[in-house]
Amino acid sequence: MTASRPVYPTGPECPDCHSSDVVPILYGYPSAEAFEAAARGELIIGGANIDADNPRWGCRTCGRRFSMGDVTRS
Ligand SMILES: [Zn+2]
Repeated sequence: MTASRPVYPTGPECPDCHSSDVVPILYGYPSAEAFEAAARGELIIGGANIDADNPRWGCRTCGRRFSMGDVTRS
């Protein structure tokens, strides 16, 4: 395990409402830092189940969850 602070990049635009208030969805078992970041609204805790089809991004305006692939396909 590493103690380095993860970097939360700015997400893409929401494909539904075009809000830029999009944050990454974190899967797996989050660290205490990740919980704090989620409390600040910097990311979404997606749960422990890691699946290739999991959406990567969550819109905090409309609640839409999507992947980068969803954006490029549409
Ligand atoms: Zn949205």
